Amino acid sequence: MKHIVEVMISEQDVKARIAELATQINQHYRDSGKELVLVGLLRGSFIFMADLCRMITVNHEVDFMTASSYGSSMSSNRDVKILKDLDEDIRGKDVLIVEDIIDTGYTLTKVREILQLREPNSIALCTLLDKPSRREVPVPIDYIGFSIEDEFVVGYGIDYAQRYRHLPYVGKVVLLDE
Ligand code: 5GP
Ligand code: MG
Ligand code: MG
Repeated sequence: MKHIVEVMISEQDVKARIAELATQINQHYRDSGKELVLVGLLRGSFIFMADLCRMITVNHEVDFMTASSYGSSMSSNRDVKILKDLDEDIRGKDVLIVEDIIDTGYTLTKVREILQLREPNSIALCTLLDKPSRREVPVPIDYIGFSIEDEFVVGYGIDYAQRYRHLPYVGKVVLLDE
């Protein structure tokens, strides 16, 4: 489909907000005494993770998993599956899930359930973007970068049919009439 991408959140604003999130996270986990592991959901979180983890001053591990959600279209798929699991054990650790965007909430609900079964010390959630008006199942979110309107966004790791992940800002996709 013919479309353009408009800047929605500038590179500067994204960077500044991630620094604020990191400050909160550092304060929260500084004296936990448990091991901290950042769990990124691939592929959308990879750039957010790269920026966030470099501002986290508490010692931590970085691990990734892949949960199926959207295909290459703009419609959602409620049948969430784990396509790639974590490489490391999380038992007894503080888990901080790092996500690109929370939409209906189905993906995170399922991921939380799966991780909870492994008996971590705690599970918290950090998302760069949140679309609260789209929520279908409630998800507790501990750290939110930006709450946004119901727009289809790309950039900063987030794709449209595998394009635009490299954009250094968050953009919105605007469909054009043929
Ligand atoms: P949920 O299970 O919360 O509906 O889906 C969350 C996932 O859907 C996100 O991690 C992301 O992969 C995808 N998603 C939700 N909204 C958007 C969007 O505006 N743009 C893109 N590219 N993906 C989105
Ligand atoms: Mg995602
Ligand atoms: Mg995608």
